Amino acid sequence: MPLHIATPLIESRPLSLAAGCEVWAKMEALQPSGSFKIRGIGAACAHHAAHGKRRFVSSSGGNAGLAVAYAGRRLGVPVTVVVPETTSATARELIAREEADLVVHGASWQEANARALALVDAETAFLHPFDDPLLWAGHASMIDEAVAAGLPFDAVVVSVGGGGLMAGVAEGLARHGRSAVPIVAVETEGAASLAAAIRAGAPVELPAITSLATSLGAKRVCDRAFRLTKTRPVHSVTVTDGAAVAACTRFLADHRVLVEPACGAALAVLYDRHEVLAPFRRVLAIACGGATATVAQLQAWQAAG
Ligand SMILES: *Cc1c(COP(=O)(O)O)cnc(C)c1O
Repeated sequence: MPLHIATPLIESRPLSLAAGCEVWAKMEALQPSGSFKIRGIGAACAHHAAHGKRRFVSSSGGNAGLAVAYAGRRLGVPVTVVVPETTSATARELIAREEADLVVHGASWQEANARALALVDAETAFLHPFDDPLLWAGHASMIDEAVAAGLPFDAVVVSVGGGGLMAGVAEGLARHGRSAVPIVAVETEGAASLAAAIRAGAPVELPAITSLATSLGAKRVCDRAFRLTKTRPVHSVTVTDGAAVAACTRFLADHRVLVEPACGAALAVLYDRHEVLAPFRRVLAIACGGATATVAQLQAWQAAG
């Protein structure tokens, strides 16, 4: 039995009316860990457990760490999540609730990650948040489900952080002979590492992440995500933090589901009828979710913007 669930695929009237085309939302926000990440991380953890690993380690204080913690609890494998001191109380609480061992170390993610890597031994698996073929294969299951539902979509809209979700979507489309279906790859302006890679002609490291969409905050996209921009149709789009937050607020009102700005970025392209959508008639929108935002925080962002 997989650790993820088959999520609802719903025709969103509010998103369709805003976008000017049919929009079907794949409700990854409803995954048990709160985001799509459990698909790939759950598959990777199950693989590692079956191959003799007896402990999982993560350095993510966000949805990836949460997915590892959830997977470990379900599989009966102990998990250590190493996070920096900057990690929010909400994120710490969510990880602790999954009974993972939470180690707070260092002022930045780099320091926490170095400590996490130092814990790895022959019996320990380190779970990368986005740059791992096991993850991409697991994420691809969301496309298997959309195809099995018989939905003839002509584009997929996804958020991009490090590019693992995008790589998984591309793999799923390839599995079903649909590599010609364009992927609309959405980032916020302060976390636009894919857009920077496309401009530079190779993955490059952003000097800093300045977006409040922290789950998109990979300074550099994985090589796989960049390669895809060369080998299949990918439309890179950036939106403002304000647009991402406004999209979260509208999605909450429209579908009664709270998502992070990382997910709101993709929804903003639809709510704001971005010109990239003009050729499309039926769009699959990955509502990737995110468990670390609260309603109070969303309201504060909205008020500040
Ligand atoms: C991780 C994450 C993303 C970005 O996924 P990548 O695989 O890093 O591109 C987007 N939204 C949410 C909610 C996430 O947790």
